[in-house]
Amino acid sequence: MVPQNLENFMRDFDHSMFIDGKQFQGNATQKIEIVNPANEQLIATVPDACIEDIDEAVSSANKAFSSKVWLRYTATQREEKLLQLASLLEKNAEELAMLVVHENGKLLKDAKREVSNSVRFTRYMAGWATKITGDTLDVSFASESQQFFAYTKREPVGVVAAIIPWNMPLAMAIWKIVPALVCGCTVVLKPSEEAPLSSLRLAQLIIEAEIPAGVVNVVTGYGHTAGKFLCEHPRINKITFTGSTQTGKKIGHIAIENMTRLSLELGGKSPVIVCEDADLSLLPAFIAKGIFYNQGQICAAGSRLYVARNIFDETVERVVQIAEKMKLGCGMDNDTDLGPLISRNQQQKVTQYIKDSVANGAKKLGDSVNLPQQGFFVEPTILVDTTHEMAAVQQEIFGPVLVAMPFDNEEEVIIKANDSCYGLAASIYSQDISKVHHLVPQIKAGTVFVNSPVRTDPNLPFGGFKQSGIGREHGNKIFDLYTEHKSVVITY
Ligand code: NAD
Repeated sequence: MVPQNLENFMRDFDHSMFIDGKQFQGNATQKIEIVNPANEQLIATVPDACIEDIDEAVSSANKAFSSKVWLRYTATQREEKLLQLASLLEKNAEELAMLVVHENGKLLKDAKREVSNSVRFTRYMAGWATKITGDTLDVSFASESQQFFAYTKREPVGVVAAIIPWNMPLAMAIWKIVPALVCGCTVVLKPSEEAPLSSLRLAQLIIEAEIPAGVVNVVTGYGHTAGKFLCEHPRINKITFTGSTQTGKKIGHIAIENMTRLSLELGGKSPVIVCEDADLSLLPAFIAKGIFYNQGQICAAGSRLYVARNIFDETVERVVQIAEKMKLGCGMDNDTDLGPLISRNQQQKVTQYIKDSVANGAKKLGDSVNLPQQGFFVEPTILVDTTHEMAAVQQEIFGPVLVAMPFDNEEEVIIKANDSCYGLAASIYSQDISKVHHLVPQIKAGTVFVNSPVRTDPNLPFGGFKQSGIGREHGNKIFDLYTEHKSVVITY
């Protein structure tokens, strides 16, 4: 049954943005149509914000920051407000999860996990509001008559522009907004044009949590217009972006013009290394989960599988057996194993990678599964006989496509695993602890999981080496992203 709150929210259909604590229709002449990817039905429209709308949102966040409506709150009060928000997320969990399924297509159980993880993350971060500290330092200025007391303090960076993708629409919004608020910043959030609804509902809950008007503003629109205007705005002090490496680079160029602080969480092509001594019992399920979770639309998806040659056939065959049994369908149905991709575009892009690989000599393993008549579905796909140079091996596909390759020795697999422009995450499967310790430092990735697919935890820093990003989110490292360090020296 659809919760009443969700019905009420969806009844709006023509949604507004959220600026200065109020709904804001803006001056947009264009509407963006939001489509349920499981059945291709139009479920809502949102404004495509124009430059004036973005200016309105930045002014609201700027006013809230400079008038200190949020900063005036003590650290414990900020913590309390964020805990209140966490409770509201929890109270509305069923509704939020269904909203995420409607706009994104993921499985309801995964959407529920996204909401519960968002609650957990918000509570974890709220606790940090009282624990952001500086240092006291010895300085060595030469003086016979004076002494010095030096310390550093952290100050909020100011107005934050947060730009997020569609693959985890609620969690991404929370991962940006909450740490920024912990530090005393104010925010303008631009969700993806593909899945903006959960961010708009979140804005309502932020007001319900009595976080003052203007502290969080949500604008909707396309990246090349609204997103770009937001990044270029001179009164933005910090850009925090999650999305593709291609877009991250464009934003990086804009940021440097104004010296706007910048952090980037970008794409990945994460290797999964299976050594010959790996425990094979849970391995196929872990490999399948690593690539098929969220239809493969996960930045840290284990999309390149390297298996020791003497266990390659058996391992891959067992992953194929899992894929062949997967039922594709609507995320709201309990027996669905794999939902649709986000859009027709994404479906076509992923399908093209498969076609091109096969045309270039790769082999697709296993029987085909039934595809629903409507919706943006792509079947779970395992490719072998690929070459290291193929696009499917080098580029981020962001779909349920695994490339599987055998290796003969550790040296070879390390070279291949690292020969990628990305460096977000990796998994290693081995029962030999010495081998694991030998391999981990050689993998160029921000996160390495041993004997498990990659996961996130609020306390575990997450981010990329190489072109997978700049900066670390989660854990206490995140406060470097939303604060400036000020050095103070008192002479006495
Ligand atoms: P995308 O880069 O196309 O879009 C991301 C966001 O940027 C959207 O809100 C979009 O509107 C906006 N945007 C696009 N062009 C812009 C521009 N010129 N200026 C400002 N904003 C612009 O990415 P996507 O397709 O939405 O998401 C998929 C990508 O996100 C994948 O590459 C995936 O790996 C990455 N991702 C990374 C992480 C991580 O933590 N590293 C997490 C999730 C997704």
